[in-house]
Amino acid sequence: MAPESENDTKEKNGKTYNWCTKHKMWTIHKSSEFTLGSPKEEKNKKEEDSKDLQLKQALSAIKFFILI
Ligand SMILES: [Zn+2]
Repeated sequence: MAPESENDTKEKNGKTYNWCTKHKMWTIHKSSEFTLGSPKEEKNKKEEDSKDLQLKQALSAIKFFILI
């Protein structure tokens, strides 16, 4: 159920819940924090970076073999 104010918080099981306007539900994150990027998006980005790094390492390995 939506609170009267977007800044409302409520505590349950020792955790403070914020009303997230993006998810339209009570969440442990604030709606302002969500705008920085969801954890899932962050994870995908890191995986992309990792793939990129692996490619660079593979390319430098190829260069190394050409030099010999
Ligand atoms: Zn949210």
